[in-house]
Amino acid sequence: MKLLVQKFGGTSVRDAEGRSRAIAHVKKARQEGYKVVVTVSAMGRLGDPYSTDTLLSLIDYPNGTISSKEQDLLMSCGETISSIVFSHELSKEGIPSVSLTGAQAGFVTNKDFTKAKILRVNPSRIFKELKTKDVVVVAGFQGQTEDGETTTIGRGGSDTSAAALGAALSAEFIDIFTDVDGIMTADPRLVQSARPINTITYNEICNLAYQGAKVIHPRAVEIAMYAKVPLRVRSTYSDLPGTLVTGLRQVKEGQDISDRTVTGIAHMLGITQIKVQSKDDPSILQSDVFKSMASANISVDFINISPSGVVYTIDKLYTQKAERILRDLGYEPEIREGCAKVSTVGAGIAGYPGVTAKIVQALTDSGIQILQSADSHTTIWVLIKEEDLVPAVNALHDAFELNKDALKGETMT
Ligand code: ADP
Ligand code: MG
Repeated sequence: MKLLVQKFGGTSVRDAEGRSRAIAHVKKARQEGYKVVVTVSAMGRLGDPYSTDTLLSLIDYPNGTISSKEQDLLMSCGETISSIVFSHELSKEGIPSVSLTGAQAGFVTNKDFTKAKILRVNPSRIFKELKTKDVVVVAGFQGQTEDGETTTIGRGGSDTSAAALGAALSAEFIDIFTDVDGIMTADPRLVQSARPINTITYNEICNLAYQGAKVIHPRAVEIAMYAKVPLRVRSTYSDLPGTLVTGLRQVKEGQDISDRTVTGIAHMLGITQIKVQSKDDPSILQSDVFKSMASANISVDFINISPSGVVYTIDKLYTQKAERILRDLGYEPEIREGCAKVSTVGAGIAGYPGVTAKIVQALTDSGIQILQSADSHTTIWVLIKEEDLVPAVNALHDAFELNKDALKGETMT
């Protein structure tokens, strides 16, 4: 059986217009002889009646008192509603279809409510339905524990649901349909000259996604990579081929996509920088600070340790908690809210001297202050003020000429 997984995100299923575009892709796949397993997100964004954020607003999230188990039960409704509406509209078009919750579709997760891990997907029910139906619509983002409690799997979860389905069903492709033309060299909301990348490796997109390129969830990329199922990121609103994510570096004769120095620029907002000066013994300060953050479950990033003190960043959500902990320990932290992290990502960075120099030059030429920086063999990070974000991402995108054709990689076949 030829089988495809197609995932449609929240903006794609938000209204009848989006859903009819989505249904056109399902029809096309069906005409090409595929059975299609669709997975959908909740319909729309905050303000739309059945979106995840609207549902959460009903329980005063994040200040409400409801248990995370009940929160999951509520949040899962968004995708359940969406899958039923989608299946209904397919049936109206004469396409034999059925909708299933994550649990019915065989998603078994651990008990980590609101961010559960998928343990396995038992595909037998889906295969049974496909004997009589051409399309099964699965509610994304949700599963069930071994003892039957409803769980959700965290933000971006429908991408992960799609990848897990693709792996469990040995699909030919996992298609992630969204509101942009594919994976681009930067977020097109910030950079007008951002271009779709035709071919990218699992590693490259994983790095971009972990650094904030929210077009696809990194966990979805990892699942597809381990299952060796090719992934495509495509626009719901066009027939363009989008971006092919593959393990292959050599896509076509003479074109090695690993030759690209920089693949793209990603960004993340809502970061707080914390500086703590040493009073006496710097080693006590260092272990005090990082042990206390760890025991409060606050993850730290951008860590710089020196004899005079420590500097690090945290998610802005934990600013007050972190400040209180440090003051209780007798320190006087210097807190800077409203920071952003900009990441220059590329598999070729390691072997290419001068990348850091180019980043520093591009940012200082644009009058942007670098608050901190760090690097690995595939990524160079800078911390800047949030208000500098748009000029910073644009300056780096221009500096690495990411708007030029030559860096696009080969055309997908
Ligand atoms: P969906 O609802 O389909 O899951 P998301 O909003 O989660 O859609 O992801 C799509 C959005 O990701 C785009 O609208 C775009 O603004 C953003 N984005 C961020 N970085 C990138 C990138 N490198 N390439 C494409 N889109 C990006
Ligand atoms: Mg998404």
